[in-house]
Amino acid sequence: MSEETIFAKILSGEIPSTKVYSDDEFYAFRDVNPAAPTHVLVIPRKPIAKVTDATEEDAALLGRLILVANKVARQEGLDKQGFRYVINCGKDGGQTVFHLHIHIMGGQVLGPLNG
Ligand code: 5GP
Repeated sequence: MSEETIFAKILSGEIPSTKVYSDDEFYAFRDVNPAAPTHVLVIPRKPIAKVTDATEEDAALLGRLILVANKVARQEGLDKQGFRYVINCGKDGGQTVFHLHIHIMGGQVLGPLNG
């Protein structure tokens, strides 16, 4: 643990990213390998490795993460047609970067999860 993730390097500016939103607590940027026409990642600046590592202390942060994602979705013009949020958790959940993030995906009709 405690090895710096790609997202920590994005937060520090060591790795460039395309900013979509930024505040004291969160940063949102475009996914480098988009799975939909609009694919944005929102991350807390606090390095929580995965969603199940969040504690009671993080309850308000998790709430604000959704509110920031909502703001980004509106900013990206996704809210009228709809879109999808995804949080992958752990290896079998498809998580590849161990810094909590929510995917915002939209801009097309997304298939069913079991499709
Ligand atoms: P996960 O699979 O962990 O839920 O999602 C990680 C996401 O981060 C992937 O969709 C991947 O394309 C994206 N990603 C990985 N490395 C970089 C990077 O260096 N820059 C950006 N913008 N996205 C990245």
